[in-house]
Amino acid sequence: MRITVFGTGYLGATHAACMAELGHDVLGVDVDPAKLAKLEAGEVPFWEPGLEEVLQRNIAAGRLRFTSSYEEAAQFAEVHFLGVGTPQKKGEFAADMIYVDAVISTLAPLLTSPAVIFGKSTVPVGTAERLGVMARELAPAGDGVEIAWNPEFLREGFAVKDTLHPDRLVLGVDRDRPGRAEALAREVYAQLLDEEIPFLVTDLATAELVKASANAFLATKISFINAIAEVCEASGADVTVLADAIGHDARIGRRFLNAGIGFGGGCLPKDIRAFMARAGELGADQALTFLREVDNINMRRRTRMVELAREACGTLLGSRVAVLGAAFKPDSDDVRDSPALNVAGQIQLQGAAVTVYDPKAMDNSRALFPTLGYSASALDACQGADAVLVLTEWKEFRALTPADLAPVVRSKTIIDGRNCLDPKMWRDAGWTYRGLGRP
Ligand code: NAD
Repeated sequence: MRITVFGTGYLGATHAACMAELGHDVLGVDVDPAKLAKLEAGEVPFWEPGLEEVLQRNIAAGRLRFTSSYEEAAQFAEVHFLGVGTPQKKGEFAADMIYVDAVISTLAPLLTSPAVIFGKSTVPVGTAERLGVMARELAPAGDGVEIAWNPEFLREGFAVKDTLHPDRLVLGVDRDRPGRAEALAREVYAQLLDEEIPFLVTDLATAELVKASANAFLATKISFINAIAEVCEASGADVTVLADAIGHDARIGRRFLNAGIGFGGGCLPKDIRAFMARAGELGADQALTFLREVDNINMRRRTRMVELAREACGTLLGSRVAVLGAAFKPDSDDVRDSPALNVAGQIQLQGAAVTVYDPKAMDNSRALFPTLGYSASALDACQGADAVLVLTEWKEFRALTPADLAPVVRSKTIIDGRNCLDPKMWRDAGWTYRGLGRP
């Protein structure tokens, strides 16, 4: 099949490359010329394990190209995917629809023959219906243009696997236009459906809400264990042992119960805020007030981390702090709303000299937080440190030993913001070890 993908960021570039991997002819469309130049050259403009190979293989096979031309894209295919960003509006909690709306208002007037636009971006419920009206008004093909919603659940760090072997596919279709979108989606995903990946067809609003609810649930699970971590800190209990113990209950499950400095990134924080804002617009404000507390608990963990650093150093003013990790999670270079950089920034504002090292996110970190210090390795970052903070659980940091760091630090103090180190190993070597929610 011929397919276009509008927006070639984390979601779109992965989707485009993986759809080509499934054998389709794919055209990726973006407005960022620098990003397009890299992708055309077979270079992924961000860090995502395994994606570069898929990209290069499919460019070489002639199944994957990139363009900035909406005219070319409109002519190219009947099936269009929309994967542009939906960030938090500046100074508000709602999602900003300017990029999504721009795609429809630019593409629709060019659609002279029937087409289906499958939205993948995370959007407020009601968006697909609104875009459908807008697209049919603007398109020369009129009623032949349809919007469906196919929310994306990929995780950065596992994006290729999650796209080619998702837990499930969800497709929201316009109930007034039955049949066509579902038939096309079944053709696009035929290989996945052969593997019996669950395929749920819903109305548009349900599909949009599935994504918002999934993220709200995940955020709640993390904040739940972080709230329990606060009680563990007050009572001397160990949240990591507690999480193992409650996680054995299949109704609870161990995954996503890792206490630490909380969630961040380009999805969960802005998605729960947009969900609350949308519920308010719909008159259902009461329903999601608990998400405000989920957000509060999450942000409090960052403050707690700063307190632990201050306690460790005595005073932050004039202290030297090493921050290991800048990405919001390991195996990603994404620093959007990263708890690690937020903590690093707060500590610097209180007068400490902060040096950051991350295996993949250095360029993005420098662009977002240019005033922080940066080092080329973990050991360099720890030179003369009064405290070492592990804020992203990269494998490289989990593998560090007390013997690696002891020769370079000023004080043998390590604060484990992700509970990813072995406290016994560090304490036995004479270090002061602090975790979150652990004695
Ligand atoms: P991103 O910022 O990495 O990518 C967005 C891309 O869209 C950019 O390359 C930008 O240049 C491009 N763009 C902006 N306006 C455009 C236009 N008018 N035409 C064509 N391209 C345009 O964002 P992302 O992380 O890929 O997220 C995209 C959407 O997917 C969001 O709604 C996000 O919530 C959702 N999502 C993301 C993930 C993830 O892990 N990143 C997972 C699931 C869902």
